[in-house]
Amino acid sequence: MKNLFIVLILFISTFGISQTISSPSEFLGYELGSEFTRHHEVVAYFNHISKNASDRVKLIEYGKTNERRPLLLAYISSAENIENLESIRSEHLKATQGQGNANKSIVWLSYNVHGNESTSTEAAMQTIYELLTTNTSYLENTVVIMDPCINPDGRDRYVNWYYQYKNTPFNIDPNSKEHHEGWLNGRPNHYMFDLNRDWAWLTQIESQQRIKLYNQWLPHIHVDFHEQGVDNPYFFAPAAEPFHEVVTDFQRAFQETVGNNHAKYFDAQGWFYFTKEVFDLLYPSYGDTYPTYNGGIGMTYEQGGSGRAGLGITTSIGDVLTLKDRMIHHITTGLSTVEVAANHSKVLNEEFKKFYQHKNFKYKSYVLSGDDDKMNALAHLLNQHEITYGRAKSGSVKGYDYRNGKTSTHKTTSNSMVISTDQTKGTLVKVLMEPNTKLSDSLTYDITAWSLPYAYGLDAIASESKVSADAVDNWNIPISNKTLPENALAYLTDWSSMNDARFLSDLLKNKIRVRHAKEPFTIEGKEFRRGSLIINRADNKSNPNFLKSLTEIAQKHHINLAASNTSWVEKGKDFGSSSVSMIPHNKVAVLSGAPTNTLQFGEVWHFFEQQLEYPIAVLDADYFKGINLSAYDILILPNGNYSSFIDQELLANLKEYVQNGGKIIAMEGAINAFKGDDGFQIQERDYKTDSTATLLPYAATEREGIKNMITGAIFKTKVDHTHPLAYGYDDTYFSLKLGQDAYEYLDRGTVVYLENDPQPVSGFAGSEAKKKIGNTLVFGVEEYGRGQIIYMVDNPVFRGFWENGKLFFVNALFMVQ
Ligand SMILES: [Zn+2]
Repeated sequence: MKNLFIVLILFISTFGISQTISSPSEFLGYELGSEFTRHHEVVAYFNHISKNASDRVKLIEYGKTNERRPLLLAYISSAENIENLESIRSEHLKATQGQGNANKSIVWLSYNVHGNESTSTEAAMQTIYELLTTNTSYLENTVVIMDPCINPDGRDRYVNWYYQYKNTPFNIDPNSKEHHEGWLNGRPNHYMFDLNRDWAWLTQIESQQRIKLYNQWLPHIHVDFHEQGVDNPYFFAPAAEPFHEVVTDFQRAFQETVGNNHAKYFDAQGWFYFTKEVFDLLYPSYGDTYPTYNGGIGMTYEQGGSGRAGLGITTSIGDVLTLKDRMIHHITTGLSTVEVAANHSKVLNEEFKKFYQHKNFKYKSYVLSGDDDKMNALAHLLNQHEITYGRAKSGSVKGYDYRNGKTSTHKTTSNSMVISTDQTKGTLVKVLMEPNTKLSDSLTYDITAWSLPYAYGLDAIASESKVSADAVDNWNIPISNKTLPENALAYLTDWSSMNDARFLSDLLKNKIRVRHAKEPFTIEGKEFRRGSLIINRADNKSNPNFLKSLTEIAQKHHINLAASNTSWVEKGKDFGSSSVSMIPHNKVAVLSGAPTNTLQFGEVWHFFEQQLEYPIAVLDADYFKGINLSAYDILILPNGNYSSFIDQELLANLKEYVQNGGKIIAMEGAINAFKGDDGFQIQERDYKTDSTATLLPYAATEREGIKNMITGAIFKTKVDHTHPLAYGYDDTYFSLKLGQDAYEYLDRGTVVYLENDPQPVSGFAGSEAKKKIGNTLVFGVEEYGRGQIIYMVDNPVFRGFWENGKLFFVNALFMVQ
């Protein structure tokens, strides 16, 4: 394979020479593939290209990462097309309205979404060079949009790590350190989010900035370049089942067309590949599905290698796999994709237009209502996807009721949001909103349910008829700029959303003292629920800027504070009662490092810094045992494998910490460390799996295994909303269950729980797994000494998108006392 690469390079330098642009090897000063290229060098190369081929390349910076690295897009086409780029774009988008005569193919190539799958950015540099030198004919009717690195922070993390540890020359021994990245790997972004799970939820800054450009183009073809295990041959389209039912016949067929073209090149070189296995098209937040649900041919290409392979490694069959070998495969499929696009521009344009024709989906309208803040949060997400919505008229709507799975009739008002599938993004609406996704196969390795009304905690009806509505550009309720009455005794607001939580966080950071009500109360005719915030003038009398500061913070968070001139309530407890208690300005720490799951640590980290905006100390496992924990009020233990980390001595220390008033939040796998005789009260469910099916043909074992699986399904759970952990909730919560871990109810403090015979309201759950989780804990609080341990069997901050779970986390921080 090494020789083939050299042949290719020679070919380029002999025949395809351009007078003005340098090849990556010439520009970088080393043969491409013999070293890793750091991101700033990649940026320099793309700048070089755009400067010296400015007639055929337009380069833009579309944003910056958390670590301030630039995010780039290069538009590559013929000089004529680049000159007319804007009119090509607008003509292309007209097709989404059934208009126009677009005739150019639009291909978007995304590289290195997983930072340590580092071959693809190297391949991107050679690919742009070849498009401009040897494959120029493709560009006559094709616009290539290239993102050379979606995840620069992760990529540089990997490359810098690799160079710290690599041997010189590199060592192909798989045991060598250069092939073992460790906990802080380069795959995710700065906050350790997987950007290839974030296309639909847009929780990360990279995704938020990219989606704006993506929606301006909606390409015919989108390719996401990846790497997989070292020993795997190359994977390309067509994808594996399950496909979402909205995937059209043409989209399926064109995956074959593309795959066939790649196979031609791979067969000619004797390169191994596989198709139609493993990588499915269901979960909507991937770089292949999201483009597919927006009318494109979305594909994942996977080269063997990833963070293990380095510059070269011995495979299990004794071959040596080098960076150059890996790179040439991605160059080949990238160019082959553009070739297919160039050869099929007519059908791509016709079918793209067809995709956007009105589709007769079963549900024509989704009608949602609920808490203002949650509605606003959903509207914000819809805006980013350019999904439109309107306000309902006074009346009623009948249809599938998400709460009970039955047909119900709901009243509608102008505060009910109507989202119709009869709109440009109608297919995406169906995928994100429908109550239950049809599964052509249960064997998928990702979640099978994500329906947004459940994720956002909103009441919803799916209607089979189109519900009329008044179109609105934005949902946000007008900001209240009213000045607060100066002489009020107290200022009050309810407690129901992440917006309220951010408001509280801001108050605490600004040293404003806040109380909360442990009992519901009525004052001046207005009812307040448990958890409502009470900001007393008397508590803040030493703060000279109290009113000014409170006003500013309330305006910033759009909080409409009520004012009261008395502490006397008509119903409930007066403001001087012990049932109205001060919210502590807690110091919070989270464990990171080896025992924790990198992704869940990242979810907690991101939650604090970018969602709640509250400080958190990160304590690494390396030195954790030497820290005096009494400096922290709350310790968070993310999901992980703690069996060798929490030994008898540490367990005793953690118990003492809680005994003395500390609070531990144990998430998913961390709970395991506390069960048993020496631990806390928590007990694992003792469940014996049905063993009647043990005599199975070997080939059936994988299928049989799904009986025990829940990869991600939504369950209706019961909530004790009188408990501080559940302030702001009602008696039902829809939880995204990610596994079959099962714990018994606690004697006291079972707050959120599954009842007997739980069935998913959305998604797939295996028959044995469902039996196992009947009557088990979801979230609970165990009182111990002066402190508490809070158990989170499900993950309320999963991928940052389960909006309605987040208040449980905030309650665990501030309300549970
Ligand atoms: Zn990947």
